[in-house]
Amino acid sequence: MQIPFNDISLLHQPIRIDLDRAIQGILDSNAFINGPAVGEFEEKFAAFCGAKHCIGVGNGTDAISIALLGLGIGPGDEVITSAFGFIATTEAISATGADVVFADCDERTGNLDPDRLKDVLNERTRAIVVVHLYGFPADMPAIMAFAAEHELIVLEDSAQAHAASVGNVRIGGSGNVCTFSFYPGKNLGAIGDAGCIVCQDDDLARQFRMYANHGRETKFDHAFEGTNSRLDSLQAAVLSVKLEHLERWTEQRREASVIYSRHLSWMGGAMAGDVGDRRHVFHIYPVLVEDRKTVQDRLKQAGIGTGLHYPIPIPRLHAYEKHPDHLKPFPVADKWAAEELSLPIYPGISEAQIAYVCESLAEACKPPSKKEI
Ligand SMILES: *Cc1c(COP(=O)(O)O)cnc(C)c1O
Repeated sequence: MQIPFNDISLLHQPIRIDLDRAIQGILDSNAFINGPAVGEFEEKFAAFCGAKHCIGVGNGTDAISIALLGLGIGPGDEVITSAFGFIATTEAISATGADVVFADCDERTGNLDPDRLKDVLNERTRAIVVVHLYGFPADMPAIMAFAAEHELIVLEDSAQAHAASVGNVRIGGSGNVCTFSFYPGKNLGAIGDAGCIVCQDDDLARQFRMYANHGRETKFDHAFEGTNSRLDSLQAAVLSVKLEHLERWTEQRREASVIYSRHLSWMGGAMAGDVGDRRHVFHIYPVLVEDRKTVQDRLKQAGIGTGLHYPIPIPRLHAYEKHPDHLKPFPVADKWAAEELSLPIYPGISEAQIAYVCESLAEACKPPSKKEI
């Protein structure tokens, strides 16, 4: 059996007529930048999240830096984020001129550990960028309590968490500024780069929109130097079509996760799913395995594609060789980086395929036979 790590064509094939029509519509409209399709998607996605504003931007990395700049973060400020995740988050913080400060993550979920925030707080700390890693909402009540106590801004990097929720509130609807990526492989993906910022505040929304469009609101007057980072009409039109299916696709991911968890109950490292009222959307289904290289190779031999998210903690990357946290101990991030293996999960993966992945994984985790030694 061949099981790819991800299969986006399973999403696109059944809605191909609608996608083709949307793409044709943009070609025929000649409105490629700032066309009506952008506003339509922004309105739909804001409503989906339960937010007042959605500002489409060029990608999820720009979304974070534009949001932080609009929130007034800049040189001299410190911004705390998790030591475990993707460099886009910390690149975007550095792009504002602020300093990244790393905190360790939670043993069970890989998300930022709220108990570690106090260790790195100082008088320069201005903000926390929370990542809802793998599609699992971080412990927001604890993080928000800490932020309120110390008057810190909280930005939610929600690039992996479309349609996730805490209680009845979808990610994006919390009142915090939230950023999303629509990179093709994300739970809601465009057919190229795209992203957005979601917020409730009118003034902030205006600021973000101006920043993403050369610091202007009118054609010829520029209030400040911004940048060019816009969601284009083609991506917006495709995203509008796909948004209609996001809730169904999310349920399919969640159903797949339940089947995985049932088959993997023998595994201490398998991620269980929802915690309390936090709804997990399984962008990634991670397991922790000790001899990861061997396990991954054996799964590959069995025809199963897997991924690593992420094999090197962010402060340990070469890019952060001169960062003060490069060699600082982050025991939990180091463990996740050494042992995490991402199993195939996507809408349309079948129960039989999941069963085969799990059987193969159990086999792959057994000590090597004498012959192999
Ligand atoms: C994908 C991702 C980003 C960056 O999004 P792009 O659209 O690729 O720029 C940022 N943060 C996290 C956690 C991501 O997974």
